[in-house]
Amino acid sequence: MSVMVPSRTPALITPGQQALDSALHQLGQAAEELGLDDGLRTMLATPRRSLTVSVPVRREDGSLDVVQGFRVQHNVSRGPAKGGIRFHPSTDIHEVTALAMWMTWKCALVGIPYGGAKGGVSVDPTVLSTRELERLTRRYVNEILPLIGPEKDIPAPDVGTDEQTMAWIMDTYSVNAGYSVPGVVTGKPMTLGGSLGRTGATSRGVQIATLTALGRSPEGVTVAVQGFGKVGALAAQYLADAGARVVAVSDVGGAVHNSSGLDVADLRAWVTETGSVAGYRHADALAHDELLELDVDVLVPAALEGAITASNAPRVRARLIVEGANGPTTPEADEILAAQGTTIVPDILANAGGVIVSYLEWVQNMQAYSWSASEVEVRLRDLMEGAFSEVKSVAAARGLTLRQAAHVIGVGRVAEAHQMRGLYP
Ligand code: NAD
Repeated sequence: MSVMVPSRTPALITPGQQALDSALHQLGQAAEELGLDDGLRTMLATPRRSLTVSVPVRREDGSLDVVQGFRVQHNVSRGPAKGGIRFHPSTDIHEVTALAMWMTWKCALVGIPYGGAKGGVSVDPTVLSTRELERLTRRYVNEILPLIGPEKDIPAPDVGTDEQTMAWIMDTYSVNAGYSVPGVVTGKPMTLGGSLGRTGATSRGVQIATLTALGRSPEGVTVAVQGFGKVGALAAQYLADAGARVVAVSDVGGAVHNSSGLDVADLRAWVTETGSVAGYRHADALAHDELLELDVDVLVPAALEGAITASNAPRVRARLIVEGANGPTTPEADEILAAQGTTIVPDILANAGGVIVSYLEWVQNMQAYSWSASEVEVRLRDLMEGAFSEVKSVAAARGLTLRQAAHVIGVGRVAEAHQMRGLYP
């Protein structure tokens, strides 16, 4: 089999390499299950285009920093490349490649006509001023300009970026084109062609996935959420709105716990005021690791990759894990959790709500038209529930975990597109 996970010295593996190893491992399993030939496996394991750029940034004190940026288009056999842009200090080409690969399978799984891409800049956005961030964003976009475009590759927000970042990207691209091109990015502000329902779309998808997986009333179901950013905070809110009891949440600054249930709206207001969940008055402080090991019904990892590993998986007591983040569970942890009887709704299904509504935003932009919030929500729900039901039936028919089944469907659709298109020349 040629989808090889490279052998590496464990102590030297970066989080990005760990993520890529996980993605290649999952692809290898799906390729085996589908009986794909070696040539096709290698094509699917290899990104179509990878660009590394240097981004010079003028700091407020007049000094110059140069940071690295990346854009990887993993696969474009089913349509234009699609994927977020991450600003984070540990982002590297391996992480961006893994995230781009997961985007390919995710878009195929939920049946939207996109390939997979991802971008990133190795920078800590929290130490930059707004003007520095704007200069960084515009220069990075200028460097990746040959790759992106509404028919080629459409970025969106991810960790460390938001709708303001998307507005700067749209403006930089449009200035170069000589006219406004709203369809070059999704997750834009409403005033620039954003879609109703996009801000909370990933979290709404996490809520839909959780309720579908529970298959019963969420009333009183206990939930812990790791990561209280764009995805985690609204996922906590929507689950609480549905009747679940959110007992613990965390962010990079700390973790908080209240067994009677947190007032999520009040906690979100606290975070807006102070910048972190840490120090929240109506809860007890918790160690980061303890949150993952709480005795809860549902655990939603919504921070970064590699949160649940072989070392903490044996202590994870949640009955259901719904992956808001991309790649939060390593393959070793997956095996341990499967043996413990834990159900995992995998990232490429659980967090697909974001790219689904990004697709709806792009369709509206291409038609220069806008839909109501309820039209968007109905389409999101249909696509999420349809994909979930396909994953469940493939898992049952083939005796697979939900992650394996989701990959078999996603990888299978991309492989089929390659076979139908044939190889040029
Ligand atoms: P974000 O930057 O808005 O939030 C990330 C959150 O994680 C922050 O609260 C941060 O403090 C927290 N965090 C970081 N390290 C942590 C740690 N060790 N422990 C606890 N918390 C920690 O990013 P986001 O957009 O919410 O993305 C979160 C995850 O969801 C990522 O894996 C991303 O790829 C994935 N995702 C995002 C979207 C989207 O639409 N934004 C869509 C699909 C998937």
